[in-house]
Amino acid sequence: MPVRETFWNIPFEIQIGFYAASVIATLIFAWGVKLSFDLYAKGPKKRQGGNFATRFKTLWQDIFLQRRILKRPAGILHAAIFFTFVLLFIGTALATLDWDLAKPLGLRLLAGKTYLIYKVVLEIAGVTAIAAVGLSLVRRFGLMTKRDKKPGIFCLMVFLLFILISGFFLEALRVAALNPDWAYLTPVGLFIADTLLDGLSLDALSTLHVWTWLIHGVAGLVCVALIPFTFLEHVYKVPVSVFWRRLTAKGFLEIIPDMEEAEAFGLSKVSQMTDTQRIMVSACTGCARCTDVCPALAAGAPLDPRRLVEGLKNALASGEDTNLEAFVSREALKTCSTCGACYQACPARIDIPTLVVELRRHLALEEGDFDAGVRTAIEASTSVGNPFGMAPSTRFDWAKDLDVPFAREGDFYDILFWVGCQASLDTRARDIARAMVKILRAAGVNFAVMAEERCLEDFARRAGEEYVFVTAAEENIANLKKYRFRHLLTTCPHCFNTLKNEYPALGGDFSVVHHTTFIAQMIDSGRLKLKTGVPLGTIAIHDPCYLARYNDSTGSIRKALDAIDGTRRAEVTNR
Ligand code: SF4
Ligand code: SF4
Repeated sequence: MPVRETFWNIPFEIQIGFYAASVIATLIFAWGVKLSFDLYAKGPKKRQGGNFATRFKTLWQDIFLQRRILKRPAGILHAAIFFTFVLLFIGTALATLDWDLAKPLGLRLLAGKTYLIYKVVLEIAGVTAIAAVGLSLVRRFGLMTKRDKKPGIFCLMVFLLFILISGFFLEALRVAALNPDWAYLTPVGLFIADTLLDGLSLDALSTLHVWTWLIHGVAGLVCVALIPFTFLEHVYKVPVSVFWRRLTAKGFLEIIPDMEEAEAFGLSKVSQMTDTQRIMVSACTGCARCTDVCPALAAGAPLDPRRLVEGLKNALASGEDTNLEAFVSREALKTCSTCGACYQACPARIDIPTLVVELRRHLALEEGDFDAGVRTAIEASTSVGNPFGMAPSTRFDWAKDLDVPFAREGDFYDILFWVGCQASLDTRARDIARAMVKILRAAGVNFAVMAEERCLEDFARRAGEEYVFVTAAEENIANLKKYRFRHLLTTCPHCFNTLKNEYPALGGDFSVVHHTTFIAQMIDSGRLKLKTGVPLGTIAIHDPCYLARYNDSTGSIRKALDAIDGTRRAEVTNR
C-alpha cells in the first residue's frame, strides 16, 4: 500500500536538527508577528470591536475568495498563488499530523488511495504555483513600467520559485530511487527523474536526496521565519486590516473631542497614529491599484495615493516619533478630492481619503494652511453662508417664479427639500432645483424648503477645517429641528452624505433621501406618471462619488431612467 514516508532516507540526526530548526523558525515568525502587534498597540486606541459576523464575512470574501483582488484580470495570478500556497500549506500540515501524531498512535492519514489523491492535488498545486509565481515575476519586473521594481520583492519571488522547484526535484529523486507504482501520478517528478537523473547509482541518488531535502527544508523554514520581516508580511497584515476595518458609514469622519481645549489636531506625528491607522498603513503591499484609479494623479496633481500610504508606513516603521511631513508632501495632500476610488480599489481596505483628512486637519487647524481656492471658499461661506460668496438674499432666486413654499413651524411636510448651495446659486445647476420642484408638484407631494438653509461646510471639513463644519452643523441642525417633516430630500450627493451619515453624530438624526431614490420610488408607486412618446435619447450616467462609492447607491437613477419610454442609458467606463 502506498504510504507517505516523510523522513525516507533522512538520517536520524538530521531529522532531530530539522525539528529544532522548525521550532526556531516558528519562534522567529511569532516574534515578528508580536512586534507588528506591539507597534499597532502603541497608537491611541480607536479599534472598534463587535460586528464579528460582518467582519468574518468580509474576511471570507476579500481574503479567502480573493474578491477584491479578482476585480482586475491580473488578480488571477495573485489568486492562483494564494490558493496553491494554501493547498501546499494544508498538504504540509497534513503530512506533519500524519507523521508526528497519527503514526505514533498506529494510524496513517496519508496511505492508500488518500495518499494518491493527496499526491495528485499537491502536484497540480505545485505546478500552478510555479507558473503563477513565474508569470508574476515577468509581469512585475518585465512588463510593468510604472511599478516600483523593488529588488527585495524580486529576490523573494525567486526564492519562492526555488523552494517550489526544489520540491519537485526532491520528488524526482524519490521516484528515481524507489520507482514506485504511483510514479505516473507525479508526472513532473517522473519527467525530471527520466531526463536528469537517469543512470545515477542508488548511492548517488540517496546522497543527492539528503542534500536536496536539507536545502528544500531549510529554505522552507527560512521563508516562514522571514514572513514578518519582508514583503511576505502582507499574508497576515492584509487580513488583519480587512478584519479590523471601520464599520462606520464609508468616509465617516470622527468628531474632534473637546475641540476648544485641544492643542493638537489630526495627524502630524507617528505617535498620533491610532491603532486602526497603524493596522491599515502597515498592510500596504505597494500594489498601486490605488494609483491606477486616482483621478487627481491622472489630472497631473502631485498626488500618488500609494506613495502617500507607503510614506506613512515608512514613518511608522522608522520606530521614532517622526514628523510625518518628512514622508508625506503637503502639496500632494491638498490635491486629493476624497473621491474614494483608491479605497474602493485597495485590497487591504486602506481608507486613504480619511487618512488624508486627518493629515489635513493638522495643516488646517494648527497651521491654517489650505489650498488658495479652498481658503477663499471657506472665507466666503463663513461670512455669507455659501462658498461662492454670493449674497444670502439671492439664495432662493432660482424659485422666484415657482411660488415655492417655505417651511413654517408647527406645519407638517412629507418632504423638506434641502436645495444645497450648488443648485441654489450656481446658474448652471439651478435647473436641478427647479426640475425637482416640478417633480414634487407632479407627484402631489406636500413639501417645503427651509428659509434658513446655508452651506453644510462639507468641503471645509474634507479640507480639514473641522471647526467651521461643526459650527455650521450646529446651526443647521437647530434650524432643521424647528420643522416637522417626514424626509429630508436633497439632490446634491455631498449634502446627502453629510446629512445622512455625518449629522447623526452631532445630534441631527433625520430621514434623508436622495432625489434619485425618491423619484424612482414615486414612479414605482405610480404617484409620478411619466409622459410617453418623449424619449430622452441615450443618457450616459456619471455616478457621483459621494452617492455611488460612499453610499452604494447606483440602482435608483438607472431604474428611473429605464422607466422613461424610449430612453437608452449608456454606462461610462473609467469613472
Ligand atoms: S494603499 Fe492599497 S491599493 Fe494602494 S498600494 Fe497600498 S495596498 Fe495597494
Ligand atoms: S480619494 Fe480620490 S483623489 Fe484622493 S487619493 Fe484617493 S483616488 Fe486620489
